[in-house]
Amino acid sequence: MKTIFEQSVPGRPGVGLRELKKDLTGLIPQELARDGLPCLPQVSELDVVRHFTRLSRLNFGVDSHFYPLGSCTMKYNPKFIEQAASLPGFSRLHPLIPQFRGAGHFAQGALEVIYETERLLCEITGMAGFTVHPMAGSHGELTGAMIIAAYHKDKGRNRSKVIVPDSAHGTNPASAAIAGFDVISLESRDGIIDPQALEAVLTEEVAAVMMTCPNTLGLFEQHLPRIVELVRSVDALLYYDGANLNAILGKMRVGDAGFDVVHLNLHKTFGTPHGGGGPGSGPVGVCARLVDFLPVSRVGKQEDGQFFLSYGHPKSIGYVAPFYGNFAVYLKAYAYILRLGREGLIRVSENAVLAANYLRKRLENHLEIPFNRTCMHEFVASAVRQAAKGVRAVDIAKALLDKGHHAPTVYFPLIVKEALMFEPTETESLDTLNQFVDDLIAILEEVEQDPAVAQSAPQKTPVSRLDEVKAARNLELTDQCRLVD
Ligand SMILES: *Cc1c(COP(=O)(O)O)cnc(C)c1O
Repeated sequence: MKTIFEQSVPGRPGVGLRELKKDLTGLIPQELARDGLPCLPQVSELDVVRHFTRLSRLNFGVDSHFYPLGSCTMKYNPKFIEQAASLPGFSRLHPLIPQFRGAGHFAQGALEVIYETERLLCEITGMAGFTVHPMAGSHGELTGAMIIAAYHKDKGRNRSKVIVPDSAHGTNPASAAIAGFDVISLESRDGIIDPQALEAVLTEEVAAVMMTCPNTLGLFEQHLPRIVELVRSVDALLYYDGANLNAILGKMRVGDAGFDVVHLNLHKTFGTPHGGGGPGSGPVGVCARLVDFLPVSRVGKQEDGQFFLSYGHPKSIGYVAPFYGNFAVYLKAYAYILRLGREGLIRVSENAVLAANYLRKRLENHLEIPFNRTCMHEFVASAVRQAAKGVRAVDIAKALLDKGHHAPTVYFPLIVKEALMFEPTETESLDTLNQFVDDLIAILEEVEQDPAVAQSAPQKTPVSRLDEVKAARNLELTDQCRLVD
């Protein structure tokens, strides 16, 4: 397939520009003026439409295919929330518009969205305060870790360590390290945290324990009450990685369970698809004693009902994002929460957990499942049996593409060999789940007869199997501008 530059034909215009009537040279500072014409392909409007429509059809997304990617909820996001985000009153608002009615009332609605989204997230998680500013899950973790550091510093304590279980998402230790902590890795036992192992490393130097619950194996941390007790006993804080809230929405409030800090990924659970590098939103919630440390600005509500931005919080960690974070993403979450309501959110987690357990049960005789017990929103299988025949997790993942399904997450978490992590989500019908399982079982049965088929998959995708090492090492780059001249 040709790139848009390769389709360029000299003299074929897409848009016509009129000659300028006035000479603008004096208006544009010399250092900002172009030396020559920009390098743009010369294509007609129809060329452009066909090119990008063709490209979009090559895409593999939730809107076209089942996408059972684990640890990173990829569920269908209903279209009505896109309407909410594109309302001109929101989408055309300038971030510096005056906030009060007297000066122009345009920002009041947006401030109300921030205020109400934070309030709803407090309600859902049981936390005392929230900030919607962080722009990704990992950014939320960093914000949370900075709040934890500021809290201990304020108390005059020297706390340099953060404990992270080996079943955690890789961003957890990275965020703690960037916030200046030394990271202690905690080995899990039977897939979950072992309170005795935790006790052995918990000292007065520990600032926090970062947990994901359910963890990346899709397992609920059964010793949670004991863990909370242990963490409290050394005055450390308990952090909850709530990137994937799909398993516990409406079922458990992390604040009630004893967590002090939580981040959510709105671009996984609350209505925005994730992937492709954003935009995302990773709001952070805190318990009452940490509210003073939240980033600025904050939104308050006056007695007369007007909303206002406030900056005067001396203990605040300061700014973590320009302006107010990714407004459109949390606006979508706000619309999503209001539309689903309490009952709807509860059904999300019930159906997500049911679908994951359904897949697990149907697959348990075909794939090794190392921790084969009731899972939450996802579970991890292992292709060790198939690997013995020369077919690895990656081959099974590629073979699924030929059947029209996105691959599950592979080789994560690291503690399971040949890991295949499935998260079907609540948005798929039983028919889709059955089709997926039937296709996967057919692949696994074929592995027994003829391993070469999976080893050489995919055959039906626009691009067949790549030599990934070669693709990374010998990148073929073309100077697109050369094609235009
Ligand atoms: C996705 C994810 C993150 C990181 O979120 P980003 O928005 O990609 O930075 C952190 N923790 C868990 C458990 C996740 O699934």
